[in-house]
Amino acid sequence: MSNIRFKALEIAISRNKRSFIASSHKVSDYFGELTFNQSVMREYMPKEAVDRLMSSVNSGEKIDRELADQVAAALKGWAIAKGASHYTHWFHPLTGSTAEKHDSFIFPTADGKAIENFRGDELIQQEPDASSFPSGGIRNTFEARGYTAWDPTSTAFIMDDTLCIPTIFVSYTGEALDYKTPMLKTLHALDKEATAVCKYFDPSVTKVIATLGWEQEYFLVDTALFHARPDMALTGRTLFGHASAKDQQLSDHYFGTIPERVMDFMKEFEYEAHRLGIPVKTRHNEVAPNQFECAPVFEEANVAVDHNQLLMHILEKVAKRHNMTVLLHEKPYLGINGSGKHNNWSLSTNKGENLLSPGKTPESHLQFLTFLVNIIKAVDQHADLLRSNVASASNDLRLGANEAPPAIMSVFIGSQLSHVLDEIEKSGGSQNKSKALNEPTALNIPKIPEILLDNTDRNRTSPFAFTGDKFEFRAVGSSMSCAKPMIALNLIVADQLKKFRYEVDLLISAGAPKEDAIYQVIKRYITESNRIRFEGNSYSDDWAMEAEQRGLSNIPSTPEAIRVMVKPEIIRLYEEHNILTERELLARYDINLENYIKKVQIESRVMGDLSINHIIPTAIRYQNTLIDNVTGLKEVLDNKTFVKLSNNQMQNIKEISEHISIIRTLVYEMVECRKVANKMENVEEKANEYNQKILPYFEKIRYHVDKLELLVDDELWPLPKYRELLFIR
Ligand code: ADP
Ligand code: MG
Repeated sequence: MSNIRFKALEIAISRNKRSFIASSHKVSDYFGELTFNQSVMREYMPKEAVDRLMSSVNSGEKIDRELADQVAAALKGWAIAKGASHYTHWFHPLTGSTAEKHDSFIFPTADGKAIENFRGDELIQQEPDASSFPSGGIRNTFEARGYTAWDPTSTAFIMDDTLCIPTIFVSYTGEALDYKTPMLKTLHALDKEATAVCKYFDPSVTKVIATLGWEQEYFLVDTALFHARPDMALTGRTLFGHASAKDQQLSDHYFGTIPERVMDFMKEFEYEAHRLGIPVKTRHNEVAPNQFECAPVFEEANVAVDHNQLLMHILEKVAKRHNMTVLLHEKPYLGINGSGKHNNWSLSTNKGENLLSPGKTPESHLQFLTFLVNIIKAVDQHADLLRSNVASASNDLRLGANEAPPAIMSVFIGSQLSHVLDEIEKSGGSQNKSKALNEPTALNIPKIPEILLDNTDRNRTSPFAFTGDKFEFRAVGSSMSCAKPMIALNLIVADQLKKFRYEVDLLISAGAPKEDAIYQVIKRYITESNRIRFEGNSYSDDWAMEAEQRGLSNIPSTPEAIRVMVKPEIIRLYEEHNILTERELLARYDINLENYIKKVQIESRVMGDLSINHIIPTAIRYQNTLIDNVTGLKEVLDNKTFVKLSNNQMQNIKEISEHISIIRTLVYEMVECRKVANKMENVEEKANEYNQKILPYFEKIRYHVDKLELLVDDELWPLPKYRELLFIR
């Protein structure tokens, strides 16, 4: 019987490369050609309608029926001219991916013919049968209706001959069942609070938007090899596999020449992304072999989130054309760097000013420091909430694995800014309000040197790092929606800015000059949030110890991390800013727990199946060869020579037997534990059980399987090995 691994290897090695040529070498010729952007609107809609639409988008005002009809007619005309036959509301259910249900433009007429039709009400709202989406018990299946409603702030686009309209997704009773709804709400809250704070410095600021530039890491593997590994096909990662003699230790992959086959793939997905208006700009090899990264130019955060969801889809789709599979999993290979999705985040005013870009005048310094310090304070206050919003079974494998930020949240700001904050902290003025008010503190505002923008002052180990004019949240997992962590970040910053304004206004109403009041509050915040600032190596064990002394949490597992979501003060926070209700948060908590349980359960099953049906039979087959050999030797050798020479062989046979026996026992025990866990009614307990009782078996079983991989004849081994998965391209 031939080995599936060898068949897969044969296919993978002899692949013909698919070269790709874009319709033009100039990206400006096709960028956004599949999007209903403003220039298309102007072509298909009267100027007055475009202006009204844009003004509603900017102000968040409702769009009336008449305008919706105009937009729908324009969308239909444009989409049909582009070859589209269907339309769909495109939304982000709590599965973390995207969902769509296509409808044709068809409208039968009385004369037995049909016309294309698309009305305003179809644009504004749809009722997909939503019973199978996770709802955390909010919506019983008999009450399966959920609404999708048009999000005019994100551009409609055409994919696979279908007009896709970005929408929110809410239950019949009005609860959010998606990520977009709370995302839009936090952006609104952040706008409100940040604009109010901006007015201290520049009364003409009327709007603040959050900007997001994500960096997406991923692995590629030949599809034949991928399918020869049931663990990869079913769980997205390898559950077994001994380290390859060479992997990333020579650091020869990072920023290296992109392999030709990969380059062709990249060109094609970038082309597809550009046509959809996703401004992908950067591409490079990552640290691990067969690991890559792409990053766009940053955009308004809601649009950037949609674009990331869309890009993940395009990556997978285009990779297939090149007979490759994209692994978005956070940790596809043990012992090798995992993948993250760095979320670069900042705030920008309607005047195009980046609030995290230090300006040149003392006033702009104070504004910059105000936002910087408030963000640090927010992260300090809500480190656990940020942690919980990047928690998933797969990201647990990456966080804290000495190659990604640890599960301890901290903020890096660089030596120059640290110095500035330290100086402010040490500067004159006491916590005593009346005394502080008398001091000309505005004069103490240190001049921030322009070299602040020095890009070499970087720290790659920090989970939340200031990088010159933005913060980079690095703990986000590669497969998750950016929306989740961005919702949390927007919210905690909005809340912090609100508190800040309250405190500053109190001082002002007590007679303090505005600058003084701001300065005093900032100064106190710096002291209060000192512990979250860390400039050293976040991967070190020393930091874990120091962090503990500082009272920072280190939450390694998802079930524990997500418990924060339903703490009374967190529920209050979400409710106060009108982001999510208690019911919605409880539902989300439930969905997260269920998801965790299912992920670990599936991995555990696959592990058992592979062990018993693939690994052990292979080991036994090889063991039998060894036994035959020993028996044969015994026949042809005299006893003394035989005893001398067969020693190693016997040892080998014994070792294999031991591994087989231990694997069997461990798998049996793991299955028994699963039975206990599966009977548990309480999801919280069940998730803990999976985390604490079942997960630990993975490492133990894997140890013995990986040992067998080293002992068993390479020709018999059924699973493509790390050296093949990582180096064939
Ligand atoms: P790095 O050195 O971390 O790779 P880059 O300058 O390449 O930094 O930027 C990484 C990402 O950060 C890009 O997606 C970029 O568009 C984004 N970015 C830059 N400025 C901002 C900003 N003001 N707001 C949000 N994202 C930004
Ligand atoms: Mg970066």
